[in-house]
Amino acid sequence: MKYFTTGAKSALIDKISIEEVGMPQMVLMERASLGVAGAAAEFIKDKKQKILTVVEGGNNGGDGVAAARILKERGFNVDIFYIGGIKKTSEAFLEQIKIAENCGVKIYKASDDYSLKSLLVGYDIVIDGIFGVGLSREIGGVQAEAINIINDAKEERQNDLAVISIDIPSGVSADNGELLGVAVKADVTVTFGFTKVGMLFGKGREYSGKIILKDIGFPACAVEKTAPEYYGLDIDDIKKILPVRKDDSNKGNFGRLLIVAGNDSIAGAAVIAGQAAFKAGAGLVKIFTHKDNRNIIGAALPEALLDVYEYNSDSEESSDGTNHSAGKCSGKITSPGGEQSGEIISSTDIESLVKWATAIAIGPGLGTSEKSKYLLKAVLKAAYENDKPVVMDADAINIISEDRSILKNLRFEEKKWIITPHMLEMARLIKTEDENAKDALGRIFKDRFEVAKYVSNEYNIISVLKDARTVVSDGSSRCFINTNGNSGMSKGGSGDSLTGIIGALLAEGMKPQDAARAGVFIHGAAGDIAALKCGRTSMTVTDLNGVIDMIKR
Ligand code: ADP
Ligand code: ADP
Ligand code: MG
Repeated sequence: MKYFTTGAKSALIDKISIEEVGMPQMVLMERASLGVAGAAAEFIKDKKQKILTVVEGGNNGGDGVAAARILKERGFNVDIFYIGGIKKTSEAFLEQIKIAENCGVKIYKASDDYSLKSLLVGYDIVIDGIFGVGLSREIGGVQAEAINIINDAKEERQNDLAVISIDIPSGVSADNGELLGVAVKADVTVTFGFTKVGMLFGKGREYSGKIILKDIGFPACAVEKTAPEYYGLDIDDIKKILPVRKDDSNKGNFGRLLIVAGNDSIAGAAVIAGQAAFKAGAGLVKIFTHKDNRNIIGAALPEALLDVYEYNSDSEESSDGTNHSAGKCSGKITSPGGEQSGEIISSTDIESLVKWATAIAIGPGLGTSEKSKYLLKAVLKAAYENDKPVVMDADAINIISEDRSILKNLRFEEKKWIITPHMLEMARLIKTEDENAKDALGRIFKDRFEVAKYVSNEYNIISVLKDARTVVSDGSSRCFINTNGNSGMSKGGSGDSLTGIIGALLAEGMKPQDAARAGVFIHGAAGDIAALKCGRTSMTVTDLNGVIDMIKR
């Protein structure tokens, strides 16, 4: 397990290490700057290249000044540009300036009328020590100007100017990756102790470039005391929680997953989810879908069991002229007005299907028609009454967004169910009455963890908020951030695969929180293997499904 820290937590770890544990600040700063100098030296190689370290008067600037001094001692050609626009310079910064001057480092001060724009022309590398995680509001004035000058020069000179940021690119919010006005676009960011949450998402991720993590010796007791909320898992953590596939086994040992997916115009989603479930280890998979899909799914996924339903609306003649009363009627759909509007007919009733399963996955390609709503309600009610774990995705979420009472009325004491919305589905699910989905989406970008946590507690479920980096919340203050996966997965069908994987893990008996975290990790890892094999552009979700078990066992 590894932690990711926000701005506030990073500052607190610093503070406790210094004030309570007694680590001298200058020791931590020296280690941090050694880290920066080491990473920069490796990156730069050619000692003739000219480096300009641009600093402001906070601790981030102190790291920058010390790194410049260390690089100079190692024979690099390095100078400092000091913006000098913040009111309260840090003591440590001032001490570092003194040391650097004593070591003969040239310091250009904006207050002496040096212009960053004209100076920069003569340099090949910028080290950005303007702001670190202490940034507390939008950047304006002289710092914004300096950042724009660096970015413009980078834009103009491309690979002829390299930018290395210290701890986090100046201007990126360490909490959510949004830009606080403007931010430095770095090629490399050397970060201390923990990757900052904001460097994992959106613009923050893009602006950080390559992230180099340096251990600067924060004492473990200081870190634990701050109880960081955000963490990632690695492959060994995941392997520990996955069920073991024993030699002496049969298909009954690996769970029975019921997938309720597809409708009269979509079959593919059910196939992808079913295939992923088998690849993730499910013993038996049964797909419950519209009768029109029978032949397609039977051919595409012959290993799956199949049960189909037919829907007859009252106003239409039965399409094939069959006598309804011959099949088992799963239920009738009644419109809000009370008059009957149609019925779902299947050979096995919904309750029996649910009772057969050890877990249920519902939603991919389900549609949002009255029939889909009926199906969802009937399946969830039966799952609730029979105490079955469920993973809900796609149209299941869209239907619930329109009538949240469906899920609110089915609250377990423990969190047994999982919901897997992508960002927009989440926006639909949380938007308030006087908010549109776009505004709700903005709220999610600002604080995705709070939103995931809110949904988890509101419905007492595990929430999986899918994005380029997916987060999983169990409603507590701790939140899992998944960091594998790639843009080759930004293709229709990827989510259906995740639903199948999580469904299979639930069916095998994993706890919902573990099934969600492991499922997301396995899905991303399979995506990475598929990208290695086929390339990001060419890989399909079938390629991803094909390598799911390469990580699993
Ligand atoms: P720290 O010293 O906490 O490591 P930084 O080096 O990032 O953090 O600098 C923090 C300093 O910058 C503090 O003095 C703070 O008041 C100041 N500061 C924070 N945000 C801004 C801003 N947007 N504009 C100007 N000064 C800022
Ligand atoms: P669909 O409904 O078309 O199947 P979703 O949007 O529901 O797709 O799911 C897409 C899946 O792919 C999610 O699990 C998401 O995390 C993953 N994904 C998409 N783009 C990326 C990316 N750039 N990096 C990592 N994972 C991604
Ligand atoms: Mg989806």
